[in-house]
Amino acid sequence: MSQEKPTVLLEHYLKELKLPTFLREHRKIAELCGQEGTDYQTFLLRLVEREIQDREVRARERRIKAAKFPVIKTLDSFDFQAQPSVNQPLIRELMSGEYLDRKENILLIGNSGTGKTHLATALAFGACQQGRKVRFYSATGMVTTLLERREERQLERFNRQLERHELIVLDELGYIPFSKAGAELLFEVISRAYERTSLILTTNLPFEAWTEILGSQRLTGALLDRLTHRTHILEANGESYRLRESKKRTRRGTKKNQGEI
Ligand code: ADP
Ligand code: MG
Repeated sequence: MSQEKPTVLLEHYLKELKLPTFLREHRKIAELCGQEGTDYQTFLLRLVEREIQDREVRARERRIKAAKFPVIKTLDSFDFQAQPSVNQPLIRELMSGEYLDRKENILLIGNSGTGKTHLATALAFGACQQGRKVRFYSATGMVTTLLERREERQLERFNRQLERHELIVLDELGYIPFSKAGAELLFEVISRAYERTSLILTTNLPFEAWTEILGSQRLTGALLDRLTHRTHILEANGESYRLRESKKRTRRGTKKNQGEI
């Protein structure tokens, strides 16, 4: 009983201090250190190290969850040979994340299925792993959210939340034209991010066609001016990966069928 009491109290304090790994591991490590005859400082050091390691893992998981990636993609699963138009050395350099310290942007331009979303996700996921605060949006999702926040009179608050990120992905600009209000709100986000938060933007639209999506030539000019300054432009202009893969499958299927005949 007398031995139980300090443990109960200790566990209560550890909970209060929010040290879950201490709580979980202290008995095991105490036993281990007892067997090894290590001193008290080493025992404490081991526990503290575990707590810190676990805390980093939890923080990384939280950041990844908060980034709201639709699907997680990494560079390991990207086949550069299938898309030779992509500047592989530049992508590899960008993975270091230094562009984020310089508040530079990345623009991925190319036709559908060429891996733009995959690369944007891999870069953003890499940034998360490095401890950066990241948020992934589809461009239309962002515009819808902006319009909703404005409706709720929460726009300023939302914009300030966005500013707390180190990287914002705006995926697939160009599939749906925006309303005038939507385009203006998006412009505000991009303006406020300028030299403050890095953006990764993917689009299937060549610059000449941006006016069609954004509506106004003046707005497009101003937006491109901000977006293309301090920006790494990556082009992906090969064949659609999906199309290529399904053609391969069809070919394999045909061959198999021919073999069977
Ligand atoms: P985009 O955004 O350019 O339209 P996606 O990135 O959505 O293209 O790619 C479509 C699908 O093909 C995704 O599942 C993606 O992971 C895959 N993909 C595209 N290019 C490659 C590639 N070079 N290597 C591996 N997978 C790829
Ligand atoms: Mg895409």
